Amino acid sequence: MGRNMSTGSPDSATIAIIGSGLTGLLAAHGLEKNGFKAIVFDKEPGLEARDRDWTILVHWALPKLSELLPEDILADFPQAFCNPHLEFNEEVESLPCYNALTGELLFRSATPGARRVSRQALRRVLARNVDIRWRKAVSRLSKTEGGVLLEFEDGETFEACRVLGADGASSKARELLAGAERARLERSGFLFSTGITRYGDGDKTNAIVKLHPVAALMMGTSSVGGVGTIAVDDPRDKSTWTTFWVKIWCGESVHLRDRAALDYIKSKTGALSGVFQSAIDWTPEGSRVFIDEMKYWVPVPWDNLSGRATLAGDAAHPMLIYRGQGFQHCITDVCNYVDGLVKLRDAGATVDADKVMQDYDDEVVERGAKAVRQSLLEAEKSFDLETIQKMLMVTQGHGRSA
Ligand SMILES: Cc1cc2nc3c(=O)[nH]c(=O)nc-3n(C[C@H](O)[C@H](O)[C@H](O)COP(=O)(O)OP(=O)(O)OC[C@H]3O[C@@H](n4cnc5c(N)ncnc54)[C@H](O)[C@@H]3O)c2cc1C
Repeated sequence: MGRNMSTGSPDSATIAIIGSGLTGLLAAHGLEKNGFKAIVFDKEPGLEARDRDWTILVHWALPKLSELLPEDILADFPQAFCNPHLEFNEEVESLPCYNALTGELLFRSATPGARRVSRQALRRVLARNVDIRWRKAVSRLSKTEGGVLLEFEDGETFEACRVLGADGASSKARELLAGAERARLERSGFLFSTGITRYGDGDKTNAIVKLHPVAALMMGTSSVGGVGTIAVDDPRDKSTWTTFWVKIWCGESVHLRDRAALDYIKSKTGALSGVFQSAIDWTPEGSRVFIDEMKYWVPVPWDNLSGRATLAGDAAHPMLIYRGQGFQHCITDVCNYVDGLVKLRDAGATVDADKVMQDYDDEVVERGAKAVRQSLLEAEKSFDLETIQKMLMVTQGHGRSA
């Protein structure tokens, strides 16, 4: 066995979190705020190792996110906003969707109190004051007398009292706890691409912002489109703003980057209309563009190593990006996990520890499975004007539905 990184054996107070994505970092803050010690392990060499960015609308779970964060980190939360200079009102806190054939407003989803953040910027804020151990790819988890032993690919080990697997959609923790076969991601057949664009041209940026100051959608043809703002340098000079576009379609599985991805989108996918198409056509040389197939996993129960190990976030319920529910469920998981551990600690021997952790798992599996299935149905309905009217996005807006 490799070198043991733990200070004591086992370190009865330490909760090991696998993954420094938004779920893992949020869990670290929530646990520390409630008196637990948390250490995050990530396989990457550092916070900026992957430069891919996207925007996330934080909406129904925002109150829970605020509860989990300590005051100083919460005070920095606006640093993650795509446009922190906006005056937030009913119009800004909504997501309009335009008809791709007529250009008219198809529907508007109300998102009261919501804030659109850059995933990278939020990760930078949340990484503050967190003990993160980089280059630590978890390869094995096993139960010990007082906790769980983590083994890493570099041969080192760490013994913790508990483990939270928050290592994203392709989770190794899920594979280790549920078995490779049961944990396998499913392909959806839906492709999504994102482009991050800094036009350096106020008029082009303005065309996007005029659709909506935060983000807007387009539906009604063989592709779904989205545009919006991801970063604002000088609020008075739109040539300094960075925007994004999103395109979703159904088709053959490809995994392309940058120029090759842009060429593919332009030549092989159905056109959008108006500014939604122009945003793609204007993409400057050297912009980051990504195409991936959306994958999902409908959660089924996993072995929680006698209540010592579990999953949260995309590791527990990777879903399609429709209706922006993924991160809301990550936040909900973290809140429930922290509540469970607080309950265990405060009630001492009067509660059944195994049951508290099993309740956590059961709830994640049930809620996660419902949300993942809804995201699939939402995708299937999004390419035809008749079925669009039946989408949750139209009938229930962005509200919680799982
Ligand atoms: C384009 C796009 C738009 C989205 N929009 C929205 C939205 O509007 N609203 C919303 O609610 N959600 C949205 N989502 C979903 C949201 O982004 C995710 O649910 C959330 O970011 C998942 O975070 P996570 O921490 O669970 O996983 P990840 O961000 O994937 O983090 C996993 C971490 O684990 C690490 N890791 C992986 N394997 C190992 C290992 N073996 N050992 C150690 N570390 C490991 C990785 O390096 C990574 O740092 C969107 C997603 C996309 C892609």
